[in-house]
Amino acid sequence: MIGACQGCGACLLTCPEHAIRPAGGRLVVRHDRCTGCGECVEVCPVDAITEVD
Ligand code: SF4
Ligand code: SF4
Repeated sequence: MIGACQGCGACLLTCPEHAIRPAGGRLVVRHDRCTGCGECVEVCPVDAITEVD
C-alpha cells in the first residue's frame, strides 16, 4: 500500500486516529485504528493512498 509515497509525512500529521505509522522504511495503516474518514486520502499530494473496503 501507499506505493507512490514521497515521504512528505502529511498523512501521518493529518490522521486523527494516529493510524498511519512508519514501519520498516515505509508507511503502513493500522486498520485496527483506521475509521475510514478519508482525510489521509485528501491530503496526500501524490494520491498514494487509496481507500479500500
Ligand atoms: S482514513 Fe482517516 S483514520 Fe484512516 S488512516 Fe486515513 S486519516 Fe487515518
Ligand atoms: S501524504 Fe502521501 S506522499 Fe505524504 S507521506 Fe502520506 S502517503 Fe506518503
